[in-house]
Amino acid sequence: MAFPIPKFHWCMSMSAGSDGSKIYLCVSIDCECDKGPGWKTRKPLSFAAITTGIAERLQPLFRRHGAKPTYLLSPEVIRDPASVEALTAIASECELGTHLHGEFAEPGAFEPEVTSVFQCHYDRATEQEKLRGLTALFADAFLTKPRSFRAGRFGIGRHSLGILADLGYTVDSSVTPFKDWAQAGAPEASFRQAPTQPYWPVLEKPAQIASEPGSLFEVPVTIRPGALSWLPLIGRHFEPRWLRPTKGSLGGLISVAKDEIAAASGRPILLNCMFHNVEIMPGLSPYAQSQAEADAILNRLDGLLAFAARQGIATIGLGDVPGLFC
Ligand SMILES: [Zn+2]
Repeated sequence: MAFPIPKFHWCMSMSAGSDGSKIYLCVSIDCECDKGPGWKTRKPLSFAAITTGIAERLQPLFRRHGAKPTYLLSPEVIRDPASVEALTAIASECELGTHLHGEFAEPGAFEPEVTSVFQCHYDRATEQEKLRGLTALFADAFLTKPRSFRAGRFGIGRHSLGILADLGYTVDSSVTPFKDWAQAGAPEASFRQAPTQPYWPVLEKPAQIASEPGSLFEVPVTIRPGALSWLPLIGRHFEPRWLRPTKGSLGGLISVAKDEIAAASGRPILLNCMFHNVEIMPGLSPYAQSQAEADAILNRLDGLLAFAARQGIATIGLGDVPGLFC
């Protein structure tokens, strides 16, 4: 009787994929002012999920695992002196990048009830001004240029990557494979056919691989199809599985990582876990109202980092990724 041969022996270290490809993990965190149920912005603006959430909960966890996270900062965070002080204190052990919620960015900045804008809906000049303003804000605060970016609501469009490349960014991480954002109001932000592994994108078509290397690398969020995604017609309405500690179980999180590793081959393999800083604090996001719920999210992240450490998978910054592929 023949037994199927497993593709991997999971009891052993899997720092290399089935073809010997080296495996890396990024943990990229969208960092914003404190929110609440329904993603409502807390007024007056507050930043406990930076000054306490990152400084006292997240970064100590990453430090314990010897992991380098990437904190992607929305404009209002960079305008807050206490947040800048807290982030400057940990800058040597993490990567800092930017995250655009256009409502908070000049020109025309204001404090929205919820951040609902997709940057692909701005005209090119407005999008460019807001990205330029965000980038200058970052450079003034941290005395260095950001390398990595993610759009608020993943809403990049045909102008976004070219503007980012002109501003000196080397990594975008806005692409969400197997997802489009049509139901949220942005059919332009469609990544259903996008690669799940890093690639040089066509700047005007972020989900497409360019024929030549460029200056801006795309590092998609790690997402795998859902169990029912294969169903004709209705499969697309089932949520795919994200490498994201927000919901579900640690086992589910690790199975997304394993599935991506099994599907990828030929080059370094990159896993990209995302979530928000506000998720690991009670009452500051839609996902955790109690301390126990906030702790559960942090514990799943802890478990993912422990899995990576056991398997010899290094956790690196988004800006470190292009160097692995050159
Ligand atoms: Zn955001």
